[in-house]
Amino acid sequence: MTPHRIFALVALALTAVVCVGADAQRAQQRPASPRIYVFENGAIRGLDPALFNFKREELKEVDFVNSSYLIVHPAGTLMFDSGGVADGLFKGDGPVTEGIMSATKPLLPQLKAAGYEPRDITYFALSHYHSDHTANANEFAGATWIVQKAERDFMFAPDPQGIIQPATYAALRSAKSKILDNEDFDVFGDGSVVIMSTPGHTPGHQVVAVKLANRGTVVLGGDLYHYPEERTTGRVPTFEFNVEQSKVSRARIEQFLKDTRGELWIEHDMRTHAALPKAPAFVD
Ligand SMILES: [Zn+2]
Repeated sequence: MTPHRIFALVALALTAVVCVGADAQRAQQRPASPRIYVFENGAIRGLDPALFNFKREELKEVDFVNSSYLIVHPAGTLMFDSGGVADGLFKGDGPVTEGIMSATKPLLPQLKAAGYEPRDITYFALSHYHSDHTANANEFAGATWIVQKAERDFMFAPDPQGIIQPATYAALRSAKSKILDNEDFDVFGDGSVVIMSTPGHTPGHQVVAVKLANRGTVVLGGDLYHYPEERTTGRVPTFEFNVEQSKVSRARIEQFLKDTRGELWIEHDMRTHAALPKAPAFVD
């Protein structure tokens, strides 16, 4: 065999390997049924339980975790929330502390380990505008942003006040957007991934209900609750935008969970988070 021919065969073999790799990657990106990847975005420590109308001894855990999620559906992807510490703040391998928030790893490398880049994200949604959820929102401005009108109006008001960092989501202003008016949205049109309007914590807070083939229905609850103890006592934080709305939204989701025998993942709850597999593993 001539060296030229050997080279051609090696090149052919390499092409085959690359093609198989790309096919595997595409297959991974289009699973037969929805799956959820859970990302670790650090913690919030030193919170005052009184902010949430609790005494220390009434809570099992006071500290929060921060998390975000990628939902992969056969027809596309939905990224939900984006952490509390921006990837740009990481220098080297060290943890980052920003006031009461901290994180040990950036978000995008976790997304990449699961096989996705920001350009692979079809839809992006925030549970709400608070800065512990928006840190990397600008990274997803190439996706279609699903947002409630009341939330968007607040976010882009001239001088929004509260737990808000407009610079972290400024790029969303010009993103292709699906603007909802206190309504639900069936993201992929088959009822398996539904954004549910749950105002109260903020004007346009929303959660995502996902029907998983194996695990059943999961609601990614955002900050509908912060502590599991809120579910059993009915207490709401002191800083709700509208307490009455929060109560209505909670009652609606509790009924939905009953009807679907679903489970609620409270985004900040340390125990819920600890029990879930983290990306690149997933729940389906
Ligand atoms: Zn939060």
